[in-house]
Amino acid sequence: MSKNRRRQKNKDLSKKIAEERILLLFELAEQNFNEHPDRTHRYVTLARLIGMHYRVRLTREQKRRICKHCYHYLVPGNNCRIRLKGGAALTTCFVCGKMSRCPYYDKPMKESVEPVEQAESDEQVESVEQAE
Ligand SMILES: [Zn+2]
Repeated sequence: MSKNRRRQKNKDLSKKIAEERILLLFELAEQNFNEHPDRTHRYVTLARLIGMHYRVRLTREQKRRICKHCYHYLVPGNNCRIRLKGGAALTTCFVCGKMSRCPYYDKPMKESVEPVEQAESDEQVESVEQAE
């Protein structure tokens, strides 16, 4: 009994540490994106691996920053484009070119919602297209 309890406690502790490490890796990814874009992919890969190993889920915010298809770290206006449509954010990854959908309301809104374009994103998209 006491053994089990201790194991449970250790498990909770390791999960907490894992969460902290994931948080730290995401911070590092954010800080290093401009200077070392290649490192950010490594950071988020490690964060995902830690999460899988300790069965810690990434937060919603963290999941949004990673491409669902190629697992690259996404920075809006830099390597991804976000369009709001029908109560969901459509994220287009420029690394793999695929789109992922992320609802931003708890209940999905019906068709009455008009697609809302972000005012500043058009400019950013243009600059990315020129770079290609
Ligand atoms: Zn991708």
